[in-house]
Amino acid sequence: MHLPHNDLRIGLDHPEGDISFLSHAHSDHTAGLRRKEKLIASQETLDLAKINAQVTGLPGTKTMDAGHILGSRQLFVEHDGASAVYTGDFSLKPNIFGWSAKIPQCDHLIMEATYGDPNYRFAPLSDIYDQIANWVKLNDKKNIIIGCYELGKAQQVIKILNENKIAPIVQEKTEHFCSVYEKYGYPLDRIMVGSDEAEEQMSRPFVAIVPMHRAKRYFAKRLSDAFDRETLCAVTTGWAMQWRYDADAAFPLSDHADFDDLVYFVEQSGAKKVEFFCGDGREVLKKTKHPLILATS
Ligand SMILES: [Zn+2]
Repeated sequence: MHLPHNDLRIGLDHPEGDISFLSHAHSDHTAGLRRKEKLIASQETLDLAKINAQVTGLPGTKTMDAGHILGSRQLFVEHDGASAVYTGDFSLKPNIFGWSAKIPQCDHLIMEATYGDPNYRFAPLSDIYDQIANWVKLNDKKNIIIGCYELGKAQQVIKILNENKIAPIVQEKTEHFCSVYEKYGYPLDRIMVGSDEAEEQMSRPFVAIVPMHRAKRYFAKRLSDAFDRETLCAVTTGWAMQWRYDADAAFPLSDHADFDDLVYFVEQSGAKKVEFFCGDGREVLKKTKHPLILATS
């Protein structure tokens, strides 16, 4: 996928073209871009992804907050008297760090449609944050493991826990991402697994952030046996709206736009042509009020 710009082609989270735009640091977007010498990206994204490229820009283009994770950006391009926007992954709902995507006016919109299904309509994030905090408080005599994607979701959940005076135990990968959040002014109180502090913390009921594949009842049972203390597990993912998980609790916490947000974004952007990636946007187009051309890339 790419956008034309003057006599250049800009690759969109893709190595093709004369220069590439990297929207954010999730690994499904960074693949193929690790060896680039120059990228249109935020410095936060390069630090999170440990990519040693030079941040660059092009006249007639600009990047804007995408509200998805630290450093996530949309790309706005003007070419031949028309404007185009590539959203990358985005979220319109302001999150616990205060980030949310702005909606740019454009002629051509290339938009993610991860939740382009009308069954996915999320509550305000503050409601989900409260649900997580209340569940943790209710179970404060037990160990708790919370499954999170290590970048983005984990930092939101750590911040929720911090606001409830809990410093969770984290693993190495999450620790790296937290340290980059801190570098850019978002402090997160957490304890590295394997440290003396973690050992001490685990002598009483504790909360740990684990990768999603670990947040299962069999793993919680192993911890219950090892610590001789009941352990509960939870998952945090937007897919919890519809899917069942082998966990004691499932919170529909997402850093993506939900169905209504996708519809709203299309309508507000004024785009005459819309393309989708990461999902099927046909239901979104049915719902929007303007006649639109669905183009597939
Ligand atoms: Zn992402």
